[in-house]
Amino acid sequence: MLETVSILATVIMQKTLLLTGANRGLGLEFVRQYLAAGWRVIAVARHHADELATPDTPALRRVALDVTDWQAVAGLADALADERIDLLLNNAGRYGGDDQALGKLDPEEWLRVLAVNTVAPLMLVQALRPRLAPGAVIASISSRMGSIADNDSGGAYHYRSAKAALNAAHRSLALDLRGRHVCVVLHPGWVRTDMGGGNAPLSPAESVRGMRAVLERLTPADSGGFFNYDGTPLPW
Ligand code: NDP
Repeated sequence: MLETVSILATVIMQKTLLLTGANRGLGLEFVRQYLAAGWRVIAVARHHADELATPDTPALRRVALDVTDWQAVAGLADALADERIDLLLNNAGRYGGDDQALGKLDPEEWLRVLAVNTVAPLMLVQALRPRLAPGAVIASISSRMGSIADNDSGGAYHYRSAKAALNAAHRSLALDLRGRHVCVVLHPGWVRTDMGGGNAPLSPAESVRGMRAVLERLTPADSGGFFNYDGTPLPW
């Protein structure tokens, strides 16, 4: 009897994360760490990682979705009608080419980068609002490269502008959803993933541990903030 009560309590108390870009890099590490911490995880990815990379457990639900398929994004709330999301994590990102120097700008690629990094996170929030639990946290993985104040090296036009626009949109989100949800943007540090490359100082595990701790400590007063993976506030 006691055991049944305790299992029931775990299921009732279990929190749910929905994250994008769940198949590799930081996203896959988020899936691993939140599952290990006892969360239910709705892992959204275009192509899912193999069974070994993400273990099959009843706590893991895989959703196949390109975040720029606007029709599919709009239908997500219906597809997830049985879910209640406590943390919506926009993690999917696109860098937009190694050479984004003046003279090499590529308008088609730039628009793709804006679609993935700026428009998709907001379309996901818009679509999933009916599935968010009261007080749910909305976090988007931005980048220090999106900080205008911090830009002292130039270049990277596609990526910087898309993350700066994400930051600006998040500020509106925090104001519009004040009192209902806590909305933040996070910089994961420079991390050894396909995007970050092999010379980055941080492992995905270290970065995700840091960001989880930041997310854990958030209060409504933090809404509208831009934080480093170690919790330090960052300049816009
Ligand atoms: P990766 O390049 O390793 O992973 C990018 C992820 O985004 C992949 O899962 C990729 O899926 C997904 N993605 C890209 N486009 C789409 C799309 N249209 N639909 C669905 N998923 C998509 O990068 P990281 O793990 O390093 O990056 C995660 C986040 O962290 C990004 O937002 C990035 O900008 C940010 N960031 C990373 C830093 C670093 O040093 N690594 C530094 C600062 C910020 P697929 O496999 O299908 O391509």
